[in-house]
Amino acid sequence: MLCVVGQEQQRDAVQRCLDGADLGQDVDARGYTAPNARLYKTWGNLALRVLILSLLVFIAAFGAHEVMHLVVIYAVGSSGSIIVRPWQMGYLPFTIYALHAQPADQLDVVRQSIVNFFGPFLAAVPLAALILYVREPVPLAALIANVIILVFYAVVELGDVLLEKVWNSDVSLLTTPEFNYGVPLLVVALTVATIAVLDSLSGRGSRIPE
Ligand SMILES: [Zn+2]
Repeated sequence: MLCVVGQEQQRDAVQRCLDGADLGQDVDARGYTAPNARLYKTWGNLALRVLILSLLVFIAAFGAHEVMHLVVIYAVGSSGSIIVRPWQMGYLPFTIYALHAQPADQLDVVRQSIVNFFGPFLAAVPLAALILYVREPVPLAALIANVIILVFYAVVELGDVLLEKVWNSDVSLLTTPEFNYGVPLLVVALTVATIAVLDSLSGRGSRIPE
């Protein structure tokens, strides 16, 4: 009998394997045990939990991002509000709606750069602070993914205003919904893949041989 266990549940799983309690789940049609069945199940569960939690944290981070834009708009001496506005897809023939922190008056390039950069950057600070203390792999992965996403927004939004106002070049890709949501989705997908690989490596390390 070959038992495959995750690191966290090692003690309980060892006992269950020794008891043979779960053997039925891992036996194939020919009566042979499937040595990796439990490991695959752990991958699937872990990946799904990272995916769901990353998307839930993304929703909260998204709200914080726009609120921080508004805070910085006031901090640089202007005023404004958060509005919902239509956002035309760049490569597809339809429009979505997006939250947007709108200054009441046109900001100069320096203040607009500060607003663009520090909105997402300040929203990343509390998540980055949590990373220092969270040790559970699922919330840790979700927090890391969302800090990366917010830093991405800070760089892209600063780059967008500098390209347009300072270097007079308009890279329209930067302001499309596809790019602004596609890259964060890619970050989440890579995080899910990374944690699945790390889990498989640690799982291999704790296999109990026949
Ligand atoms: Zn923003």
